[in-house]
Amino acid sequence: RIILEKSYRKNHHLDTIIKIGDVSIGGDNLVFIAGPCSVENEDQIVEVASKIKEYGAHILRGGAFKPRTSPYDFQGHGAYGVKLLEIAKKETNLPIISEITAIKHLDLFENVDILQIGARNMQNFELLKEVGSMSKPVLLKRGFSNTLKEFLLSAEYILNQGNKNVILCERGIRTFEDWTRNTMDISAIPILKELSHLPIIADPSHATGRRELVKPMSLASVAAGCHGLMIEVHNNPEKALSDKDQAITPNKLKGIIDKAKEIKSILDI
Ligand code: PEP
Ligand code: MN
Repeated sequence: RIILEKSYRKNHHLDTIIKIGDVSIGGDNLVFIAGPCSVENEDQIVEVASKIKEYGAHILRGGAFKPRTSPYDFQGHGAYGVKLLEIAKKETNLPIISEITAIKHLDLFENVDILQIGARNMQNFELLKEVGSMSKPVLLKRGFSNTLKEFLLSAEYILNQGNKNVILCERGIRTFEDWTRNTMDISAIPILKELSHLPIIADPSHATGRRELVKPMSLASVAAGCHGLMIEVHNNPEKALSDKDQAITPNKLKGIIDKAKEIKSILDI
């Protein structure tokens, strides 16, 4: 049968490498994306951006439009949040990534370097097609009840419209276990690497929901061959307006980055 799937390695043997300024995602590179769950105020985002940069992170994350389970929880600062992220980008020169939840918000993301499609929108096919018609890189998160096949088919919706800059993100799936927020599917990393040429990033923060698990799961993901990590970092985790239980300090991030690089160097031998 003719292989239609553009995300499949059978159709495209070499790893896809996505360039954002000086940062390369995919191939042999190990990229670190860090920042708060939500952009809260200018001091918070600029301070955390400078720290994560100093400690070796390559890309700043920060949510402006937050898809919260409860409508009574902090919903993010919306357009103003994106502006604050842009200020941090200007101050630090770090590329920025933020989640887009609706097509109507696209214009607000002009200066955002990577569009994040969250777990809850993995099968929002109209949104996928819309970002597929652009050339801006898209980080697509796995839905919490989706198989790897469904995950790749969602990537396909983006690729089919012409956008080749798709990054996959494993962020945990829902299982019967409730000690952790989700169950991190580490095996998804080598499986996706075998099936697809697209870069795969691991998000141990949403996968576990518990700050003490972020480091071990980060290192396990690197050992499993991921192309990078996305980690929630807050200057004052206890005070974070969203996802405070999984937020780590910039200092802890430094410990993870240093060890992750060591593990990566062993893998390369
Ligand atoms: C996030 O990255 O802040 C987020 C909401 O992630 P997810 O879509 O994986 O829940
Ligand atoms: Mn979060």
